[in-house]
Amino acid sequence: MKKILIVGAGFSGAVIARSLAEVGHKVIVIDSRDHVAGNCHTYRDKKTGIMVHKYGPHIFHTDNETVWEYINRFGEMMPYVNRVKAIAGDRVYSLPINLHTINQFFSKTLNPNDAKAFIASQADKSIDEPKSFEEQALRFVGKPLYEAFFKHYTIKQWGTEPSNLPASILKRLPVRFNYNDNYFNHKHQGMPKNGYTNIVNNILSHENIELKLETVYVEKMKSGFDHIVWSGPLDAYFNHQLGRLGYRTLDFKPFYGTGDVQGNAVINYCDKHVPYTRITEHKHFSPWEEHDESICYREYSRACDKEDIPYYPIRLMNDKERLQQYVDMAEKINGVTFVGRLGTYRYLDMDVTIKEALETSQALLRSFESDTKP
Ligand code: FAD
Ligand code: UDP
Repeated sequence: MKKILIVGAGFSGAVIARSLAEVGHKVIVIDSRDHVAGNCHTYRDKKTGIMVHKYGPHIFHTDNETVWEYINRFGEMMPYVNRVKAIAGDRVYSLPINLHTINQFFSKTLNPNDAKAFIASQADKSIDEPKSFEEQALRFVGKPLYEAFFKHYTIKQWGTEPSNLPASILKRLPVRFNYNDNYFNHKHQGMPKNGYTNIVNNILSHENIELKLETVYVEKMKSGFDHIVWSGPLDAYFNHQLGRLGYRTLDFKPFYGTGDVQGNAVINYCDKHVPYTRITEHKHFSPWEEHDESICYREYSRACDKEDIPYYPIRLMNDKERLQQYVDMAEKINGVTFVGRLGTYRYLDMDVTIKEALETSQALLRSFESDTKP
């Protein structure tokens, strides 16, 4: 039996804690916040009773059967399809870009084949292998759609020109030549009936797991543990000694309304003159519940200061160099495993986070076994 300290009670920390606890190891999970589930945390708003996604809209989607079974083991998932609207040039469109968006935007009535040919005619074919976000957009959707839907939203979201950002950020979004407006391509998609916090609480509910909230990691906590799993920021583990990795943080400004305020869970604001990126109306994440009132969040993105919650790893060139130096340092330490969105400084969705946490648990168990072999 080993004694393990896990820093962070998000999906990464909780899933690993559970896997280790189930085979008899003793696990202590700490989190600096006063709740579990990290950035996936949900709570019921006191005034309206609506389930709110405190750190931004979270939709569960995956192609991974193991991950889908896992999440369903710890909470009931309700059918949910994310359909986003986007306001650009003060008009409302369907997102991700699909045939409806193309026909609306260009005032046409194209069929799928004609739309494909039309968009291909807009594409910048001089770009062979797009490296940046901007090149990816110009190559695959062309300048007018790029400028309307992506350019200004991305500058607001990331605080830098799209030419400085990797193409991988845009590759998250599909472009479709039919009327399918599902934001995701994955086989499974859903919303937890009782919220993500309930799921993470269920994962952590095991006799071999002790949870300590409002507990910030300090180095002296190490003693007495056989291993540490770190899901906090990688650079924070090393006291930022090589400088800080760049993050964006978010400010959510809530407002109340009655009835249906915007008619959809998420509306993106792609225009430059609107300072926020999107508005989330939380009641639409639980369409099986009835609420007369409504709570919405306006979402603003900005540079992350020392005291702010890190949300999105920026991964610009200087971040990548610094990241490599931290990764080299991390590889030299025995007895600490770095996991998750912050611990590996990657833009990870929940399903990938859970998949990697399950894999890390197996690797840890194998290493514990080889430790105890004579
Ligand atoms: P986190 O959830 O960040 O958990 C890390 C925990 O460590 C935190 O609770 C933190 O308080 C704690 N911690 C850090 N440092 C310390 C310390 N020194 N001492 C103690 N505790 C510490 N994914 C999807 O699949 N679908 C979506 O729709 C989606 N939407 C998103 C929207 C936004 C705005 C954001 C930011 C992310 C979104 N994600 C989405 C990604 C999702 O939030 C992550 O995949 C998930 O939160 C990663 O879990 P984690 O445990 O690795 O990290
Ligand atoms: N994006 C954009 N306009 C939009 C939606 C997205 O420019 O209306 C860009 C933006 O740079 C964003 C990226 O596409 O960071 C990926 O979008 P996604 O919805 O996956 O971001 P998330 O909200 O999940 O972080």
